[in-house]
Amino acid sequence: LQEQLRKSDRLNVIGELAAGIAHEIRNPMTALKGFIQLLEPTIKAEHAMYYDVITSELARIDSIINEFLILAKPQEIRFQENDIRQIMREIVDLLSAQAVLYNVQFHTLYEEQLPYVYCEPNQLKKVFINIIKNAIEVMPNGGKITIAINSIKDQLIQISIRDQGTGIPKDKIKKLGEPFYTTKEKGTGLGLMVSYRIIEEHNGSIEVESEEGIGTLFRIKLPLNHLVNS
Ligand code: ADP
Ligand code: MG
Repeated sequence: LQEQLRKSDRLNVIGELAAGIAHEIRNPMTALKGFIQLLEPTIKAEHAMYYDVITSELARIDSIINEFLILAKPQEIRFQENDIRQIMREIVDLLSAQAVLYNVQFHTLYEEQLPYVYCEPNQLKKVFINIIKNAIEVMPNGGKITIAINSIKDQLIQISIRDQGTGIPKDKIKKLGEPFYTTKEKGTGLGLMVSYRIIEEHNGSIEVESEEGIGTLFRIKLPLNHLVNS
């Protein structure tokens, strides 16, 4: 139980700190954005490019702050026995509207008789949302996302999320989960960092297999017996 409390505390402290900083940055940002906008009519033509850089970089800070506030939002952390399939069903429902917009179909394969997993459901939801959103975003022309959940040997539950997107170059796979690593114009590079951290707190692991032009597979493994393994 002590171990369990320590982990919950750590998740909460990181979350609160990040959310606190994000919040503090937000106020001066509002002032900056407002006054920069007021200056626009006075900008000389030869300085128009500087003005554009300033406004687009401000917009970028804005999206990082917003993502941080969403990802790091402190929540009650409660590890308990949960049905992973139920957690995943909720997330698939939540993302189905966005999937339709992208012409993406979900295929889900959930093993029946799956044992419960000792986990923090709200944290795991963040992980599933991040990984599935990434999968949707790399398929601008639509495609299929296959989500499978099954138990494997050594008391593990495996959650695999496979897309038919752009894939990831071999030398970039190790960059995944690094803070601010993004290849998207409007990306923040925070989603996977947070996801990796959460899975680590569950004593689990994330593996990535990818082939450029074919797609990517994220494989999450969670121990069934979290306490014994921690
Ligand atoms: P963001 O989505 O804001 O870019 P993430 O941490 O979620 O940040 O992802 C970091 C980067 O990892 C992405 O910009 C992308 O380059 C790569 N990536 C993540 N998931 C996938 C995927 N399913 N297919 C291809 N690339 C991916
Ligand atoms: Mg992302």
